[in-house]
Amino acid sequence: MISPEEMRELLSYSSENPVLSVYLNTDPAQGNAEAYKLRLRTMLKSVDLTEDTTAIWNYIQSEYDWSGRSIAFFSCAADNFFRAYSLAVPVRERVRIAPSPHVKPLADLLDNYSGYAVALVDKQGTRLFYYHMGELVETDGLLGEEVRHTKRGGASQYPGRRGGVAGQTNYAEEVAERNMKEAADFAAHYFSEHRARRIILAGTEENTSMFRAQLPKTWQSLVVGVLPLSMTASKTEVFDRALEIIEEQERRQEAELINTIITAAAKGREGCVGLKDTLEAVKEGRVMNLVVQDGYCSTGYLCHGCGYLTVNQSESCPFCGSEFEKINDVVDLAVTEVMKSGGDVQIVRDLPSLTEAGSIGALLRY
Ligand SMILES: [Zn+2]
Repeated sequence: MISPEEMRELLSYSSENPVLSVYLNTDPAQGNAEAYKLRLRTMLKSVDLTEDTTAIWNYIQSEYDWSGRSIAFFSCAADNFFRAYSLAVPVRERVRIAPSPHVKPLADLLDNYSGYAVALVDKQGTRLFYYHMGELVETDGLLGEEVRHTKRGGASQYPGRRGGVAGQTNYAEEVAERNMKEAADFAAHYFSEHRARRIILAGTEENTSMFRAQLPKTWQSLVVGVLPLSMTASKTEVFDRALEIIEEQERRQEAELINTIITAAAKGREGCVGLKDTLEAVKEGRVMNLVVQDGYCSTGYLCHGCGYLTVNQSESCPFCGSEFEKINDVVDLAVTEVMKSGGDVQIVRDLPSLTEAGSIGALLRY
């Protein structure tokens, strides 16, 4: 997994020498180590940076433990720079050579698979899970008083309550309610500690709706899905089922975001579509959410003076008068720029409305 510090390092890294970026799938469900090595060999065949490919190859042969579902390499042997990150979700495989690391696929992981919390609940307590970049980062839990439906409930602790079956049932309900309230408070604290952006509830329908009602409103509004799961579900089961909800939610949210952008762009307000306008907005630092079709890239020009990116060839930069350099992918650099300035980046798959709008667009700050 990549920490925020490591991400910042990648974003700010650039070199006079070529940086080789490689993304390889290693999902154990889709193949074995030998098959992946073979594909890596094929991918690296066309790369003539021997020291870099050797570094990657050595890593995969001796250090990689094959525990993740994909791996990202960034190598600039001339600068003695080498990073390898195991990732918890599969990525589209690719090789890039550029003056800086190719971070677009990581932007996608950061945006789509981060900030999720799962609360698995029953009448006695809760198990909590937090995911960052598609990886389980932390678990916690709270176990309250056992909810007994037997005679040893001790209804007498509650003065004024009659004994007998009705009293026992009430007592059991009371315990359940108190447990639920405590669990919800505990969970709310956990969510804010981790700055959860999206919450998934898991358990029976009855328990999840009871729990939800006990959550503070702010957290209720961040609930994106409910999973029917047993309290004893394994971590893997929780992860896999949560991932399904996460992906579904992402697709829904992406479609909404793109509609908002297209509408805003049509009205000439807080939105733009197409590469030319989007690059202008990036230059002005106005991009809040950048949306890019997966696989979309375009050649363009980079100003060496002020970093201005453009698709139009011209003699000198209109902003600073410096010279332009032709580059293979302005989209990738735009993504890096937006991430550096604190904006969100979404890499979107299979969304015809975005393709029609020019495969790239942005929601703007003003
Ligand atoms: Zn310039």
